[in-house]
Amino acid sequence: MSAEDFRRRAHQVVDWVADYMGEVENLPIIPEVKPGDIMRLLADHAPENAEPFDEIFADLDRVVKPGLTGWQHPGWFAFFPGNISGPAILAEMAASGLGQQGMLWSTSPVSTEIEMRVLDWLVELMGLPATWMMAGPGGGVIQTTASDSTHTALVVGRHLKSDVATLDSVVAYTSSQSHSSIEKGAKVAGYRHIRTVEVDASHAMVPERLEAAIAADLADGLVPAFVCSTVGTTGTTAIDPVEAIGKISRRHRMWHHVDAAFAGSAMICPEFRQYQPGLELVDSYVFNPHKWLLTNVDCSVLYVADRAPLLATMSILPPYLRGAAAGSSVVVDYRDWHVALGRRFRSLKLWWVLRAYGAEGLRSMIREHVRLAQEFSKRVDDHPSLELVAPVPFSLVCFRHVDGDDATTRLAKAINDSGHSYVTPSVLDGRPFIRVSIGQTRTNATHVDRLWDLIAGSV
Ligand code: PLP
Repeated sequence: MSAEDFRRRAHQVVDWVADYMGEVENLPIIPEVKPGDIMRLLADHAPENAEPFDEIFADLDRVVKPGLTGWQHPGWFAFFPGNISGPAILAEMAASGLGQQGMLWSTSPVSTEIEMRVLDWLVELMGLPATWMMAGPGGGVIQTTASDSTHTALVVGRHLKSDVATLDSVVAYTSSQSHSSIEKGAKVAGYRHIRTVEVDASHAMVPERLEAAIAADLADGLVPAFVCSTVGTTGTTAIDPVEAIGKISRRHRMWHHVDAAFAGSAMICPEFRQYQPGLELVDSYVFNPHKWLLTNVDCSVLYVADRAPLLATMSILPPYLRGAAAGSSVVVDYRDWHVALGRRFRSLKLWWVLRAYGAEGLRSMIREHVRLAQEFSKRVDDHPSLELVAPVPFSLVCFRHVDGDDATTRLAKAINDSGHSYVTPSVLDGRPFIRVSIGQTRTNATHVDRLWDLIAGSV
């Protein structure tokens, strides 16, 4: 494809995407396809000869559009949001056009230094400890997902115990409400002992239960190595007591990781920081701008309070990666900050998002989502047939039908059959409930009202 052909085709693709943005609200929120339908539209074998680009492009309508799930639909109340934005899409386009491979500073000084600076900006914007900035002992790195970030932290926690413990004896702790990525990461990191600590009525980890689990493991000759606090659990956005868990982790010399994958974005608003006191007792912290901060997937930010243990765990310096600056403390070689070697120019989209919206623009989006959720939760609370099953600190409302599990399941089905709104049914303490996650970029009061009218008319 020549540069001139590329220019023409790029305009065509951008027009198609802009049209999709305009019409997404009128498309089915859940694609009307059955398993295998899309495969049947694809050729059985890769083409031997080049196909005309017009045919390739036409398949956006024929093959791709019918199989799209409505993550960008304003009636998307499922899971957590996976938001995109114009500036982030354009930055992704520019980044792929530049084809940078930023494994070392020397292989892409620009992607490295924009990442360093933008993650420093976020430390300030989110009120995180200043020592987490690049000028301090800590620092930030963009990873693919929160699962990868947490896995990285688990590996560091394990590594720090390698002088005193074998894989047979290290233990990782997390709450029974934490995301499955903690357990998965621990398994991948080789932990044989993973404890899920009990939670209280608000679904937050009980520090005394953590302390008791640690005492039992120590008595058995095991070595506590890692604990994860969650700020905003996936099920109900419960908040673990970070400070109390931090004190316990310090007493037992464990790595303390915070998973704020969804709720971390809210910390750009000072009023939400009350939910995570004690960050000075935290070793690593992950949050996903690709959930609630208008930055296309993938973009997960991992901070460490001290980068020395991370680098000691992840650095390998074979001769072919030894550049002039590699291995020096003057530059950052991000391949030493995670498992992957190769890395995309992800910082460009975060930089553009922060500049295009400004901190105030992002704060007002978060506050509006939280306001809509608070109003919605009040309606639920006031309704005689519905009950909240968890507090609503951010923008996730969890509730069930008072008539029992079947009624709750029927209500979730009615919502998801509506075609205009989509929620995730889940289970808490063995009982079904409905999660309404308000955070899609295009969601406004009209969409929340439409969902509420459907619920009120169905119960
Ligand atoms: N942690 C929490 C609290 C989550 O809610 C999620 C996903 O929703 C994850 C981790 C996993 O995120 P990722 O898909 O970036 O691995």
